Amino acid sequence: MARPNHRSPRMTGAKADDDARMVDRAVTVLARSTEALVRATDEFTLLEEICRIGVEVVGYRLVWIGYARPTPGKLVMPMASAGAARAYLDHITISWADDEFGCGPTGISIRTGEPCIITDTETSEVYRPWREAARRFGFRSTISLPIGDGDERIGALMFYADQPNAFDPVTVRLLMGLARNLAHGISALRMKALHDQTARDLAESEERYRSLIEMAPDAILVHCHGTIVFANPASSEVFGAGPDVSLVGRPLLDMVHEDSKTMAVSRIAEPPPGTYVGQYKLTTLDGRVFEAEITACSITFRGVPARLLTIRDITERAQVQEQLLQNAKLATLGEMAAGLVHELSQPLNIIRLAAEGALMLIERGKATPEWQAQQFQLVAEQSERAAEIIDDIRIFSRRDTTPLQVFDAMQTVESAAEVLCRQLKPDGISLEVAAATAPTPVRGRRVQLEQVVMNLLNNAHHALRDGKNHMPRDWRGQIRIAAEQDFDRLRILISDNGPGIPETIRHRIFEPFFTTKDAGRGTGLGLSVSYSLIASMGGRLQSLECASGATFAIDLPLVANAGPSQMTSMPPCAPMPSALGNGHILVVDDEAAAADALAHYLRALGCRISIAAAGDQAWELFCKDPADIVITDLRMPAGNGEELVEKLREFDPLLPIIIVTGHLGATERLTDTLQDDRCAVLKKPLALGNLGELIARFLQPPGE
Ligand code: ADP
Repeated sequence: MARPNHRSPRMTGAKADDDARMVDRAVTVLARSTEALVRATDEFTLLEEICRIGVEVVGYRLVWIGYARPTPGKLVMPMASAGAARAYLDHITISWADDEFGCGPTGISIRTGEPCIITDTETSEVYRPWREAARRFGFRSTISLPIGDGDERIGALMFYADQPNAFDPVTVRLLMGLARNLAHGISALRMKALHDQTARDLAESEERYRSLIEMAPDAILVHCHGTIVFANPASSEVFGAGPDVSLVGRPLLDMVHEDSKTMAVSRIAEPPPGTYVGQYKLTTLDGRVFEAEITACSITFRGVPARLLTIRDITERAQVQEQLLQNAKLATLGEMAAGLVHELSQPLNIIRLAAEGALMLIERGKATPEWQAQQFQLVAEQSERAAEIIDDIRIFSRRDTTPLQVFDAMQTVESAAEVLCRQLKPDGISLEVAAATAPTPVRGRRVQLEQVVMNLLNNAHHALRDGKNHMPRDWRGQIRIAAEQDFDRLRILISDNGPGIPETIRHRIFEPFFTTKDAGRGTGLGLSVSYSLIASMGGRLQSLECASGATFAIDLPLVANAGPSQMTSMPPCAPMPSALGNGHILVVDDEAAAADALAHYLRALGCRISIAAAGDQAWELFCKDPADIVITDLRMPAGNGEELVEKLREFDPLLPIIIVTGHLGATERLTDTLQDDRCAVLKKPLALGNLGELIARFLQPPGE
């Protein structure tokens, strides 16, 4: 075996010495390399160190390490090198493919996983392509050792000596041991690098999320069974806690307003699956009440199940939405005016015909009592029909300040559908409502859900009516309403078989003022307002993808344990009393006909009646001859009803007052006055049964 950098005459004894020195050096290489492996902190410094040791200790001309690239050309990339002949690497292309660049010792050793030795570069057939370069760079023998094997084929470690036969079997074994150690070292360092990187990524991501949570303008809370266990800095601001006051450890319910408590208690006891978004009324520690949108999901916090809440103060948004809602109502009111004229003219026409016909026959003495009763029955029925229509319109003309109530959602949907049914018929559109199989108690405002359903049905109506011309001849417009009920959620599906919503606009339809309808026919507010209304009930309105037509889904949280007795329902009409006693009633109405009709009815029941046509006149009359009950209209030309009610109340806090109005919004200003059991509001047109019942109650001596 040859000894690099050492040329001595070939003598047997000297050769033995040389061999021993060679082995010594190989052992030293192994020992120093092992030490380098143990000390190594990064892969590339280790590779450089191994190459340097080979050159410095043994005096090889060149030591280099190449990595086998998995790229299509299978190139071997030099990663580290040392020695006087380093420039050799600039002149060669080596691959580990089975091609002209891969047929040398490096390519062979990587492919086979075995060492490849060229004992003499001058005579080796394998080495012929690189012989010229070997001469130039002064090597006569070389060995290539594979690093890694099988799936972990890393590359090869190459030594070049300036003498032929420089790699005897002992040296080869030692160098193979080195290559094996190197492979382990590289794997260990890569593992460590990966681990370090993962730890760094984790720390970075933790830092990122920590700053996101700390910088977030929304309150972010984590609670375990209702006790706050984490609160971000914004929480202190949102909940009006000073910087030194911690929310951690407080019961979450302390911050929930009475109106939302039942809902919050049930959500804490039974958290809904997935991500839940709801609207709640919350209270700050300093007593401010605000509307909040809460997004909640389940997480594991410090090893225990918990709920993560993101709380956003939406007071301002709610105000804007309220304004938007008001605009939408007015806009819809305008749109509905034309339909309204038609709707109201029908019953009014019948009423007029019945009344004028009856008058004529009575004058001629030809009206039998039975026939007269029939005509009055007709008038009463048609008045009821007109009253229903007016009821629908009222939804749009007043701001809803009524408190939240628990009511049956599907019952409300059905009654809204019933109202709209009348408008669908002339266009040959059918409306099918699948009745709910169980009660559907939800919390919110009945009129608002009615408005949403009316909006959706109106949209379906328009789509079906306008899309008719593009449909086959035998096509019939259909709208279907169905309910799906989960344990705590209700889904109301409203679908039609119209042209549907093009994919290109689906993402825009909930934007305020987005409409595809012609000017004057669409405001683009219906869906955006409906969306807010449903969100204010803790629910969600969305348009579902469907094969044909359009489908809207209203998802609402159901109120747990709300039996029919807890749900508010429309008060039923009371039967008419047959007598009321001889109490004195002051009727105030600027419409003489209405006042007379009412007076006539009440006199027939035994009451003494005074009539005033305005607030001022009523007050004068009352001062002269105080009444037991005052029935008054609110809007009158001289001295309006509101002032009269306030004066009467001041004069006698126990005087029974019945306000009869066609405009419920007008009673808002009187809210304080009206909050006692000696005052009642009845809407026009009056149901005489309800009025009679009230008068009977008010005329009863106290305590009965
Ligand atoms: P508007 O009805 O005033 O246009 P909306 O907000 O109610 O405003 O609706 C926005 C748009 O959504 C409509 O202009 C229409 O393009 C589309 N749209 C809503 N409902 C339907 C439906 N059932 N079928 C087809 N398109 C619909």
